[in-house]
Amino acid sequence: ASLAQIDSVESEVHSYVTICREEALKRADQVQKMIDAGELTGPLAGVPVAIKDNMCTEGVLTTCSSKILGNFVPTFMAEAVKRLEEAGAVILGKTNMDEFAMGSTTETSYYGVTKNPWNTAHVPGGSSGGSCAAVAAEECFCALGSDTGGSIRQPSAFCGVVGMKPTYGTVSRYGLIAYGSSLDQIGPVAKDVTDCAAILETIAAHDEKDSTSIGRDSYDFTSALVEDVKGMKIGIPRDYFGEGLDPEVKEAILKAVKVLEEKGAVVEEFDLSLVEYAIPAYYVIASAEASSNLSRFDGVKYGYRTAEYEGLHNMYKKSRSEGFGAEVKRRIMLGSFVLSSGYYDAYYLKALRTKALIKKAFDRAFEKYDMIIGPAAPTTAPELGKSLSDPMKMYLSDVYTVSVNLAGLPGISIPVGRDSKGLPIGMQMIGDCYQEKKLLQAAYTYE
Ligand code: GLN
Repeated sequence: ASLAQIDSVESEVHSYVTICREEALKRADQVQKMIDAGELTGPLAGVPVAIKDNMCTEGVLTTCSSKILGNFVPTFMAEAVKRLEEAGAVILGKTNMDEFAMGSTTETSYYGVTKNPWNTAHVPGGSSGGSCAAVAAEECFCALGSDTGGSIRQPSAFCGVVGMKPTYGTVSRYGLIAYGSSLDQIGPVAKDVTDCAAILETIAAHDEKDSTSIGRDSYDFTSALVEDVKGMKIGIPRDYFGEGLDPEVKEAILKAVKVLEEKGAVVEEFDLSLVEYAIPAYYVIASAEASSNLSRFDGVKYGYRTAEYEGLHNMYKKSRSEGFGAEVKRRIMLGSFVLSSGYYDAYYLKALRTKALIKKAFDRAFEKYDMIIGPAAPTTAPELGKSLSDPMKMYLSDVYTVSVNLAGLPGISIPVGRDSKGLPIGMQMIGDCYQEKKLLQAAYTYE
C-alpha cells in the first residue's frame, strides 16, 4: 500500500532520493514469515519506514542529497537504522534533504526540491523535508530524520506531523554523516505521539561505536503515553512570542496551551533571555564543525572525483568545487574563517561561551518548569523559491529551534492547527535533559 501511494503522489511531492521497491517487497515477505512464526512481536514489525539520506544504509545509495556522494553505497548500517530493522521495520527508501542537512527548506538538494504535500506551491521545511513530507503524504508510516538546529522539528511543523529531537547522546550517531557533531541527533518523524514514542524506544540505546552516546537509566518511552498533565508546570517564554512571529501561529499555539491548562497544567509566562544570541552562536559553531567534518570529501575516499585534473591539489579543488552546492560552500568558508588563527577567539570561542550561557538560561528555567512551550518556527511553510536568495533571512527563521541543540535538550513538535491557507502549524515543547517522557505525556494528553 505504501508503494502504491508512492506511485500515486511521488511525482508531485518528491520525498525520496532512492526508492528500494524490490528489496522492500522481499523484506516484507521475510518479515511476515517471522511475524507468523512469532519471532517478531514488537510494534514496528512489518512497518514500512523511510530513512533520511544522511544515514548510512548497507548496499543502498546514501547521498546526503549532494552530488559529491552521488555514487556512495555504504558497506554498513547506521546504528539507528539497524535497530529499526531488527525490530522488523521495512525500509522503503531514502528521503530527500537539504544538502548535508544545511538548510531549512529542502531546496538545497542536488536531486530537486521536495514539496509540501498540503500545498505543493510551498516547501516542506528542512532539512528533513523528505522524511516529513513522506509521512504527511502517507508514502511511509514513519521516518527517521536528523536535527542539528531544528531539522526534525521545523519540517514536522510545516508538514503537520510529530517530530522529536531527543536529548543529545540518546540515539547513536554511528553511521549518521556528520554535519555539526556536537549538535546532531537522530529522531523520529511520525503521524502521532504514540508512533513517535514507539520509534524512539526502538532507536534509543547506548552505543560504544559513538563516543558521545550516553548510557541512560531507562530507555522506556512508551509508558509515558498516559493522559495526565495535572500539576505539570509549563513556562511560556515571552521572548518566543514577540516580533516576527506570525499572528496565526501565535494564536494556534496559545490556544493549544489553553487546552493543556484546562486539563490541569499550570501555565506561567517568563523571560528566557539570550534568545537573540542563539542564531549567531549556532551558525558559528555548526559551520565550524561542518568545515572540519566535510574535509573528508576530497575525491579520494568517497564519492565524486572530477574527470580531469593536474596533480593532487588540483584534484581536491576541482572535485570539491564541482561536488558541493552553494550553501555547503558558504558554510565551509564561514566555518574555516571562524576557526582560523586570529579569528578563533573573536568568533568560535565567543560562540562556545554563548552556548554555555544559553544552557544556563535553560537550567534556570527548568528549576521552575517541567517544560517550555513555544512555536517551532515563526511562520508556516514559505512558498517554494522564496528562501534561498536571502540566506540570512533563512538562518533567522531557525530562532526557536537552534538553542535546543546548543543546550543538548529534547524537543518535540506537534501539530496544533492550520493557518488561513490550510498550512499546518506546529507547537514546540522543550524539556530538560532526559525529560522526553514528560514531553511525550503532555503531547499525548493534548492530542
Ligand atoms: N536550518 C539549520 C541549518 O541550516 C538546521 C539544519 C539542521 O538541523 N540540520 O543549519
